[in-house]
Amino acid sequence: MTLADYLRASRSALIFTGAGISTGSGIPDFRGPQGVWKRRQPVYFQDFMSSEAARIEHWDYKLEGHGAFRDAQPNAVHQAIVSLERAGKVCAVVTQNIDGLHSLAGTTAERLIEVHGTNAEVECQRCHRRSDPEPHFEYFRRTRKPPLCDCRGFLKPATISFGQNLDARVLERAADATRDADLVIALGSTLSVYPAASFPLSAAERGVPYIIVNRGETEHDGHPRVTLRIEGEVGEIFPASVRAALT
Ligand SMILES: [Zn+2]
Repeated sequence: MTLADYLRASRSALIFTGAGISTGSGIPDFRGPQGVWKRRQPVYFQDFMSSEAARIEHWDYKLEGHGAFRDAQPNAVHQAIVSLERAGKVCAVVTQNIDGLHSLAGTTAERLIEVHGTNAEVECQRCHRRSDPEPHFEYFRRTRKPPLCDCRGFLKPATISFGQNLDARVLERAADATRDADLVIALGSTLSVYPAASFPLSAAERGVPYIIVNRGETEHDGHPRVTLRIEGEVGEIFPASVRAALT
């Protein structure tokens, strides 16, 4: 069976995505040789909460990548996932990506699970209200002061920082999705970051077909639960298979 055959047969696919699906969307490679992470020390969550200097450093780091994130547009992979959802074939999209592109492409909030948070919103660390990042970046750019919520809590881009716990409600939703899935497809992820990478595997361990599409090795290669391993560019492979499955 091909990927298109599995998609055609599925009524409740869990789609798991990683950085490899956003490379065609102008998202900067934070881990690459020129990546921001090579030049700057990450700000740990505890330091962010306890030190004004750490908050400034974190907002400055986020400001550096902000333009690229703001201008990035969804690509054919994001759009293909939306087509599948509109055809009634998706139970959840679980993503490691923080670029907000699934949401921008049209994946519905009820089905989207952003395990590592999102750069597309800012969250108050006290009252947890979320808001549009734009005015807060503008304020920081102008004043070099980290922005505060109306409740006086610290505002932070709504991504999971180093040393910060993943959101328990988000993890619960992802776990629920692994129980509802009749097919699991991992796209553009090396499947090396846990607990995120445990979700496709736990669905596969229930016996549902598990398909991996990625250019380069993944940590689940050779796992007995992997049904189909497709090596290559997700952007070339996945949208074509979705089109074939839906026509
Ligand atoms: Zn607040």
